[in-house]
Amino acid sequence: MTTKKILVLAGDCIGPEVMVQARRVLDWLNKTGAASFEFEEGLVGGASYDAHGTPLTEDTIKLAHASDAVLFGSIGGPKWDGVDYDLRPENGLLRLRKAMGLFANLRPAIVFDALAGASSLKNELVQGLDIMIVRELIGGIYFGEPRGIEELPDGGQRGYNTQAYATDEILRIAHVAFDLARKRDSRVCSVDKANVMESGVVWRDVTTTLRDESYTDVELSHMFVDNCAMQLVRTPKQFDVILTDNLFGDILSDLAAMLTGSLGMLPSASFGAVAEDGRQPGLYEPVHGSAPDIAGQNLGNPLAQILSTSMMLRYSFDMAKEADLVENAVEAVLSKNIRTGDIVADGVAAVGTTQMGDAVLEEMAALAG
Ligand code: NAD
Repeated sequence: MTTKKILVLAGDCIGPEVMVQARRVLDWLNKTGAASFEFEEGLVGGASYDAHGTPLTEDTIKLAHASDAVLFGSIGGPKWDGVDYDLRPENGLLRLRKAMGLFANLRPAIVFDALAGASSLKNELVQGLDIMIVRELIGGIYFGEPRGIEELPDGGQRGYNTQAYATDEILRIAHVAFDLARKRDSRVCSVDKANVMESGVVWRDVTTTLRDESYTDVELSHMFVDNCAMQLVRTPKQFDVILTDNLFGDILSDLAAMLTGSLGMLPSASFGAVAEDGRQPGLYEPVHGSAPDIAGQNLGNPLAQILSTSMMLRYSFDMAKEADLVENAVEAVLSKNIRTGDIVADGVAAVGTTQMGDAVLEEMAALAG
């Protein structure tokens, strides 16, 4: 068994609290001999700013490059509200994504049976929901040039950004979506705004050609983003894999997240290109932020962090059996009505962060026999 190096960047506020529970899951796998993990720990976000005057140091970037995967917590908080824009905690994550070349962001929106009632939609619309949103992460309008704010002669201002996608950028993210679809229900819905944006026309052409040349076993459909937003709240179960750009993916994945009930349940994974030595950069993090309002009180739901860990096992380490074990343990805990405050059921007392971690570990041990 090869030893895998994991860089743990817990971050700020509830980040370190929920990370402790994810680490317990990994330590358990180490202890039982199911895995061999080595850990490095680093600072990021506000914690790094406090220690080093920057939300991400070059040393941390080097550690990320040297690791087999990065497990990330969450960053930010009111403490750093007054910090210069470039040095804000959130910038640490943006810079890390860029430095690791993480162009693909995977966000599953899965509704656990026991939590279907927590969705804002009717039970029958979301029961069994299992969507994977594949979002392009380092291109498009968030990074396009030119960008800026200019002063106008009339005393007003004009802010502008550029949406642009080239064939190679679309191809690499489309490959990720098609490959993933093959392991699921073999359906990709590519989302764009080709009716009014040229970047969408190119996006549509490139995805269609790729499908016809290399993925004829996968069904490809196209949808305009406004329709997709509507369909996600009308009949979300029609989707398998949704492929989309950076801006649309940002919005649609938050919308899909809410179908599942709580931010505290949602994991995510981001990947870079496979290098010549076969290694692929991967960063795993919960979708939620640092939840400063509940930090330090043992109130955070650690399940999104724990499920991010199971994505790491599945996608970076090819450990499907262990990933299934973690996910089945989470499902078992929820079906026993063990809940943190954010997903608590009527008439049930909420447990804390640590107790939720205890419950997951107990179920893992029971399921592993
Ligand atoms: P948030 O996700 O931190 O919190 C939104 C609400 O959800 C809060 O009421 C919070 O208590 C609750 N919540 C979030 N995660 C939870 C969990 N695991 N368990 C229980 N409840 C949970 O979003 P926000 O309040 O808009 O942002 C707070 C800070 O986090 C800001 O500084 C923001 O910039 C940062 N942020 C960081 C990331 C990241 O690290 N990737 C993502 C989003 C926001």
